[in-house]
Amino acid sequence: MRSAPLKLPAIVRTVHDLREAVSDWRREGKRIALVPTMGALHEGHLSLVELALTRCDKVIVSIFVNPTQFAPHEDFDAYPRHEQVDVEKLAKVGVHLIFAPDAEEMYGQDFSTAVEVSGVSDGLCGETRPHFFRGVATVVTKLLLQSLPNIAVFGEKDFQQLHVIRRLVSDLNIPVEILSGAIVREKDGLAISSRNQYLSPIERTIAANLNRIVLDICERIAKGETISSALAQGCQALLQAGFDRVDYLELRNSETLAPMTSLNAPAHLLAAAWIGKTRLIDNRQVCPQ
Ligand code: AMP
Repeated sequence: MRSAPLKLPAIVRTVHDLREAVSDWRREGKRIALVPTMGALHEGHLSLVELALTRCDKVIVSIFVNPTQFAPHEDFDAYPRHEQVDVEKLAKVGVHLIFAPDAEEMYGQDFSTAVEVSGVSDGLCGETRPHFFRGVATVVTKLLLQSLPNIAVFGEKDFQQLHVIRRLVSDLNIPVEILSGAIVREKDGLAISSRNQYLSPIERTIAANLNRIVLDICERIAKGETISSALAQGCQALLQAGFDRVDYLELRNSETLAPMTSLNAPAHLLAAAWIGKTRLIDNRQVCPQ
């Protein structure tokens, strides 16, 4: 027997159409979740959708490769875009609506506003990608105000980004609950990322060491090794494993993201490193033993 054809979710491309769909749901008393993405969807994104579905009646996924979070030398043009494949994946997990605006719809002419979050945006990715969090904070603020969901879901893979979003939602009194989903990993531990597809087979083998080394340094710090020496050895190990450059390997307070010199509060080890032209990030919680 042939299986029924997959029912694809509706795609809206304008804020007007998005708001119409959302207001119909609101009238029906539905709870609504938003999962913002840049497309090239993988298991990590889909896990956020599944989390959203456990908490809400209707799930919207936005797909928008946001130009303002890329610097001119970064991979905006090369960023993978496979809308049809994404739509089918979202249909399979039961998404109700896809919001896929173009840059003109999001920014139009004379767009002049930016959301800047100080403190948690500083250092880490904010240092090596100075344009990045301003672009993310602005687009996420817009997406939240465009869709006004009850819940928005973000991945812990982008741990600093999650802090930036929680901060702006609190500071700007945006009435939304922010939920986070755990990092989904490949079998060898590599955090799944849309950018992993840039890696050659050799680079892919090297990439698996990021998780391995982050885990090892977490364990050493948890056992009481001096943080500065563990971090220095971690950087060394990444370069020896074949990474070309380490942007950062740092221990930060899990709640405030403040740098830590001793393990006196819940902490996360955060890393960003380059293999060839690909920049990978990862993080792990450090559990004192
Ligand atoms: P992106 O499309 O890369 O902007 O990511 C969209 C959302 O998916 C962000 O909230 C990311 O943190 C999240 N995400 C990306 N990769 C993963 C992963 N491997 N596991 C869990 N969440 C992820």
